[in-house]
Amino acid sequence: MNNMCSHSHGEFDPDNPLNKPDVPDDVQDAIRTLLRWAGDDPDREGLIDTPKRVGRAWLEYCRGNQEDPAIHLARIFEEVGGYEEIVLLKGIPFQSHCEHHMAPITGKAHIAYLPAKKVVGISKLARVLHGYANRLQVQERLTAEVADCIWNNLEPRGVAVVIEAEHGCMTGRGVKVHEVEMLTSRMMGCFLEDAASRKEVLSLMGF
Ligand SMILES: [Zn+2]
Repeated sequence: MNNMCSHSHGEFDPDNPLNKPDVPDDVQDAIRTLLRWAGDDPDREGLIDTPKRVGRAWLEYCRGNQEDPAIHLARIFEEVGGYEEIVLLKGIPFQSHCEHHMAPITGKAHIAYLPAKKVVGISKLARVLHGYANRLQVQERLTAEVADCIWNNLEPRGVAVVIEAEHGCMTGRGVKVHEVEMLTSRMMGCFLEDAASRKEVLSLMGF
């Protein structure tokens, strides 16, 4: 039995508040400049620690930049045991940020694949999603990256990814459209080529 710990230690861990990273002066100055630009006074009491907090928050929002999400699909089970049906992880919540406004994207993803020989622990699909979501994104690319990563690493017969999300840059500014969700999808393999398979997976997802 191999119980060797394979975690990496000493890296930025958002779950460990005691391991708060330093925020360099130039980063804090940039946030002060932004506050001033927005018409506020960065020296008022309520904003004193804001540059440091914002700096750390952005490190966390973009922590996916430090990882290759494919790593979550490295541990594969080759024995599928005759299982030849769709594997679906439905309604996985995520948060990302749009690369055009750095505004929040909040949504749910539905990720499915039809295994050929390789399967992974189901939670790994969510980790792949979060690895790509924790970066500055556009929803179309996020959808494609998640699907491609599963396609390339699990070599399944099909992959289907559907993402529904609300964009802060639409709801909070500009046209101020509320409760509008953007829907993107990527179908690969049998879900692209076979209309019946596509219909089946979409109906399992609730569409
Ligand atoms: Zn935007």
